This record gives sequence, structure tokens and C-alpha cells, in this order.
Amino acid sequence: MSTEKSLPVHAPMGQFATDGDELIVGGLPLTRLAERVGKTPFYAYDRGVIRKRVSALRAALPEQVKLHYAMKANPMPAVVGFMVGQVDGIDVASGGELKVALDAGAPIGEVSFAGPGKRSEELRQAVAAGVLINVESFREVSELARCSEEVGVPARVAARVNPDFELKGSGMRMGGGPKQFGVDAEEVPALLREIGKHGLAFEGFHLFAGSQNLKAEAICEAQQKSFDLAVRLADAAPCSPRVINLGGGFGIPYFPGDLPLNLAPIGDNLAHLVERARHAFPKADLVIELGRYLVGEAGVYVARVVDRKVSRGQVFLVVDGGLNHHLSASGNFGQVLRKNYPAAIGNRMATLDTESASVVGPLCTPLDLLADRMVLPMAEVGDLFVLFQSGAYGATASPQRFLGHPEVLEVLVG
Ligand SMILES: *Cc1c(COP(=O)(O)O)cnc(C)c1O
Repeated sequence: MSTEKSLPVHAPMGQFATDGDELIVGGLPLTRLAERVGKTPFYAYDRGVIRKRVSALRAALPEQVKLHYAMKANPMPAVVGFMVGQVDGIDVASGGELKVALDAGAPIGEVSFAGPGKRSEELRQAVAAGVLINVESFREVSELARCSEEVGVPARVAARVNPDFELKGSGMRMGGGPKQFGVDAEEVPALLREIGKHGLAFEGFHLFAGSQNLKAEAICEAQQKSFDLAVRLADAAPCSPRVINLGGGFGIPYFPGDLPLNLAPIGDNLAHLVERARHAFPKADLVIELGRYLVGEAGVYVARVVDRKVSRGQVFLVVDGGLNHHLSASGNFGQVLRKNYPAAIGNRMATLDTESASVVGPLCTPLDLLADRMVLPMAEVGDLFVLFQSGAYGATASPQRFLGHPEVLEVLVG
């Protein structure tokens, strides 16, 4: 087959070993893991890969910085349970996530709840649970005042600030300019007065500028500016902050040309901020909250080839799951231009005979494309197609009911 129409190749994904033709996931050859799981498609998340990522982060960042897991990246209860033992706290974004975090034994003092449009019952649950609520509007403050009175404990709150700057080079902007997240920095002094007036337990600030950033300098700049902003806003606070949450935004490489994030300058920058915090906020902890960076590289999506077709010279491998399970790999979750995720045929890792193939799911839409003209080992029906970098924003960020195919399985392995 011709490969001249193929699109660029990815850097090799080093987090999973191979043994001959088999990719090793969670200590098992993929074919055997698929037998163990019992059916395809499935996501497998590898504890060992997550553990390594957390240790690398801890080694690079000052020990005073607390590490939180933003569980919307991967809310599988077993993953959240495992993360509770790996990180210092869990960030939730709904009442549903709050339940999973509490079930998993997350330490109440280090659970925080962010997100626009928190419903009254979610706010009440959070007050009763005693977790920190990142308030994102004036309405939330008055609702929380009422909840506090009715539940009988003052709500623990931090002000989520929509900063007056943006995170440069970020895949998804979550702050700066007009946004539905947080309260505009210029209105935060008034918000803090309301928090004080109602006697809520003010604990600090939460700033989150954006997601999926691979540029260390941009992340450092955002963290520095966030810290400066917290210093400016703290004058109007009812008491000295106990927590400054600088958000996350650490990206992982997905596409040809992407390079892994360089942690060293981020560690240096945070060490500098820890030093400044000792003077500016003697009672406060610095927190970073990461989702994708902690779990994204630890996951693979595995689908079985159910058909192999050639249409006017182009090979199509049709697999048993697609955008219904893995919306982001299809390019329809926030990407501007569709690019291929790193992929492999997980039971032909050593096969040298390659071809250009497009891998598609079973849905009746041309959007259901998992790999566009990629160089892959020649695959047959029954083979296992693998998408790497699939541990974050996968199963729960996909329209699983679309077209009524079976839901995807998830396993935590290793
Ligand atoms: C989604 C989210 C995160 C995690 O973002 P990642 O890019 O996955 O690290 C952190 N904080 C808040 C408030 C979020 O909404």
C-alpha cells in the first residue's frame, strides 16, 4: 500500500513497555488484558504510570506546594480512590463528583468544589459535607449564607477569581476577558465584603487561567500573575487567606511536534512564590490542581478491529468504538484542527510491515474518525487498536448514548 498520503508521525509513547508484538499495560500483554477484561472496547488506566507521574511532580515542585487532583479529568471511582492516596486533595466540579470523592475517603479539609451554576442542593450538600466552596457569583454567596444558617455550620469559601489576564498558549482558556467562571477580579473586593458581611468562613483565593499548556514560561507567568492578583485582592478580604489555589493547566503531548512540559522552571518559580507567600500570607498554603497532567498519559483506549475495507485505495479499519467513547480523539472536544492522537496496533508492536490506514468507529457519521491516514502495522479483523494519552477527558467526556452502542468499560490496572 502507498504511504505517501500519510500524515506526520508522533514521538514514541514511552510510558508502556512492549514484549515482542504485545504492548504491556498494567503488567499484562494487551491480548491477555483484553481477555481478562472480557470485552472490547475498554479504557485501561495504569496505577504505576500515575504513581511515577506524581513522584516526578513531587520531586520537581517545592514540598510546601499542595497537589490536588481535579477529578473531572477522570472520575472513575477506583481512580479517584487511588488518587486519594497519591495527592493532598481532590477538586470536584459537581454534587455527583463530591459524592465520589467523599465515598473514596478524600480528606474533607482538602476537598474543594468549583464550577459555575452550582445548584442550591449542591451548595447545601457541600456546606453539610464541610468542604471548601470556590464561590463564582454573588448569588452563591447569598445562597451559602442561607445554607449555613439552615445547616448550622458556616460555609467554607474561597473566591474564584476571573483574572484580568489570560494563560498564553493554553489549549482551553478558562480565565481572562469575559468568562462564565469565577468573579471578575475588579468585582472581587465587593464579593469579599459580602462574604464577610454574611459571616462565611473565608479561606482564600482560587485562580485558574486555562488548560492543556505545554509552555513552562507561560505557566510560570500565569502563576506569578495569579499570586500578584491574590496579594492585591487580599487587602479587601475579611481575614488573612489560608489557601492560594493557583490552578493547573499543565499539558501533555498529544500531537506530532508536541514536547513534554519542562517541570524544572515551574518548580523554580513555585519555590520563589512559596518564599513570597511566607511574608505575604504567613498562614496560607499554595495549591496547584491538576487533572490531565496526573492521569492523561496513564490511560489507553482499546478497541477491536471488526472490519477492514479499502475504499478507492484508502484502507479503513473499522473498530468497535469511536467518538461515542473517545470524543477528544475524534477531534471534536475543543480542537480547532483535527490531529491524530498517538496510536498503535497493540498486538503488532514489532510488526515492520506497515501501511497508511484510517481508523474509524461504528457510528454513521464522518466525524467518527479515530486516526486519519496514519502509518500503522498492517492490521486484520480481531486486532487491538490502541489510542495513547487517553487517561483524561475520555469516557465521561464522550456522548456514550449517541447511536445506542454499548458503553465503554473502564479498568484500573497494575
Ligand atoms: C478542569 C479543571 C482543572 C483541571 O484542568 P486540567 O487541564 O485537566 O489540569 C483544574 N481546576 C479547575 C477549576 C477545573 O475546572
